[in-house]
Amino acid sequence: MSILEIDQLAKKFGSEKILAQLRFHVNEGEFVSLLGPSGSGKSTIFHLIGGLFKPDHGTIRLDGKEISGQKGYISYMPQTPSLLPWRTILENVILGVELYEKPDKEKAIHMLERVGLADYTNAYPHELSGGMRQRVAFVRSILSPQSFICLDEPFSALDEFTRFDMQKWLLSIWEEERPSVLFVTHNIEEAIFLSDRILVLGSKPAQVIKEINIDFERPRREELTLTPEFLLVKKEIYQTLRGVLND
Ligand code: ADP
Ligand code: MG
Repeated sequence: MSILEIDQLAKKFGSEKILAQLRFHVNEGEFVSLLGPSGSGKSTIFHLIGGLFKPDHGTIRLDGKEISGQKGYISYMPQTPSLLPWRTILENVILGVELYEKPDKEKAIHMLERVGLADYTNAYPHELSGGMRQRVAFVRSILSPQSFICLDEPFSALDEFTRFDMQKWLLSIWEEERPSVLFVTHNIEEAIFLSDRILVLGSKPAQVIKEINIDFERPRREELTLTPEFLLVKKEIYQTLRGVLND
């Protein structure tokens, strides 16, 4: 089980209100994206969920248990993949799980094969491209024992083609394991292609200004992004975000 419920969440930095009365939830096995402009407070939301700091107000519950200010309950993939340079790729992906139990190396190797890194299990991070390192960081978060995964703009540094490959590949892994995912992005297409539900965030303070269910059938294929139905959703979100930016 992994249900996340956020209620009345508030956070200030100095006198600046970043979050106020933020409320949303992620259901079991659901893929939800937070979509909002840069600086709207997306990473702050993740840092609060991950327990890196405490909210001023409000509650964060995982399966009914209050987890505010506590680390270790969710698997968190940060914006830049923080791999340990002195560890091999295999040693890096079992890093999260190692803290809790004896790692299943067979499974780790299988996952590395699934993401096209079979030849790199004994390589070191500096031998890999940026996209490969992102995949390693993602495998690490999938392998960690926490079943709730937060991904903070994992593909934002990649070029368009690599990004799309990574999205397709992320979906294929997600469909296999079906963890609950909270995904942060400022890319509209990416959010539509991946998600079951999109929460569009307004900024200062961040709040959910629109919630959109994405009902496209799974597994999703690349062609989906060119259909009129897809473009219609894209337009709706674009207009919502434009409204936010013009405020
Ligand atoms: P996003 O991830 O949506 O781009 P962030 O959550 O990183 O946005 O930042 C939201 C706002 O909070 C920004 O204005 C940023 O400058 C501010 N902020 C983030 N972290 C801190 C911090 N530790 N101290 C002070 N201000 C911060
Ligand atoms: Mg951020």
